[in-house]
Amino acid sequence: MLKKPIYVTKPLLPELEDFYPYLEDIWSSKWVTNHGKYHNLLETELQNVLKVPHLSLFNNGTMGLLVALKALDLPEGSEVITTPFTFAATPHAISWSGLKPVFADIEPETMTIDPSNIEELITPNTSAILAVHIYGFPAKVEKIQEIADKFNLKVIYDAAHAFSTEIEGKGIGTYGDISMFSFHATKLFNCIEGGALTYNNSNLVDQIYSLRNFGIMNEDTIVSVGLNGKANELQAAIGLLNLECYKKEQEKRQIVKQLYDNYLSSFPFILIPKMPVNVSNSLQYYVIRIIQDGPSDISRDKVYHYLKQHNIYTRKYFYPLCTDYVPYRSLGSERTLPQAYTIAEEVLSLPFYGELKEEEVLKICALIKEAKYE
Ligand SMILES: *Cc1c(COP(=O)(O)O)cnc(C)c1O
Repeated sequence: MLKKPIYVTKPLLPELEDFYPYLEDIWSSKWVTNHGKYHNLLETELQNVLKVPHLSLFNNGTMGLLVALKALDLPEGSEVITTPFTFAATPHAISWSGLKPVFADIEPETMTIDPSNIEELITPNTSAILAVHIYGFPAKVEKIQEIADKFNLKVIYDAAHAFSTEIEGKGIGTYGDISMFSFHATKLFNCIEGGALTYNNSNLVDQIYSLRNFGIMNEDTIVSVGLNGKANELQAAIGLLNLECYKKEQEKRQIVKQLYDNYLSSFPFILIPKMPVNVSNSLQYYVIRIIQDGPSDISRDKVYHYLKQHNIYTRKYFYPLCTDYVPYRSLGSERTLPQAYTIAEEVLSLPFYGELKEEEVLKICALIKEAKYE
């Protein structure tokens, strides 16, 4: 039993003393929110880091998703095809927007939405596809775009896990109509709470700007049913500081990942999902699949509980599936979503952050082995 618990992540925070000058400046200017200078500076810097033509900052990713769905003007009550293997915010944003989530199965290599199943689920009421780059694995962006073009659908990506991910050097936020990034404290790059939308179409700039701010166009004109998605200056300052340290964090995580890979690849009951070679890994999570190879021999839950008994807190992201949440129970099952149901029983996110020490990784791996042979 470890004396100090190990959790799945630790938020990346800048040095406290580096934050003070920002606080002093914000306090003396009295400009604390509503598109302040740090807000605007962070938008520009993020646009460069993510290699996207347009970026709008938000107070959290969920607000971003809501605005994205609104900005695309989808017919009320229409169907949005999405994945059940994601965080609750994805289908919730669809439902809150008065749209109907339709759940497609995932494909086993990347655990992202299966394009062939998307095509089967399209009806005359389908208006959009909301795919997720789960754990930073890019969804099948080319095939999804082909389907969208063929059936005249909008495409939104939930890129909450894919900060700085690139496909052959191209920013992941440039695919589809709009992508959403989350800058929540548990995400690699964070503003404590925050998010962003990225998009190519310059016609969306003004629309997203006003939807994010109550639909206000100017002092005298309100043009749309907006909400409050504005990030404040403190969030923006944390973001600017974290932009200076996320790369270092990724380098440290790369070392931790290598250690896990080395130890765990020799365990026959563990499958380590592999990032495609042309994709840069965001290093948001370290996820394994525990393959049940005998009736009561080993299982994800057994490893989860065994580690917990030893003060190591892993997470079963993304179990349960969204189709097992109360509001969506009638919208999918093991029969309609066989891959998603299998994989949700197998996945385990292991502790993963730059400060995780080699001996801690070793200990975690040794305990996983013990769980199997105890
Ligand atoms: C974190 C997350 C969100 C929500 O982001 P918030 O910034 O917390 O609102 C949405 N989708 C996925 C897949 C996430 O992991």
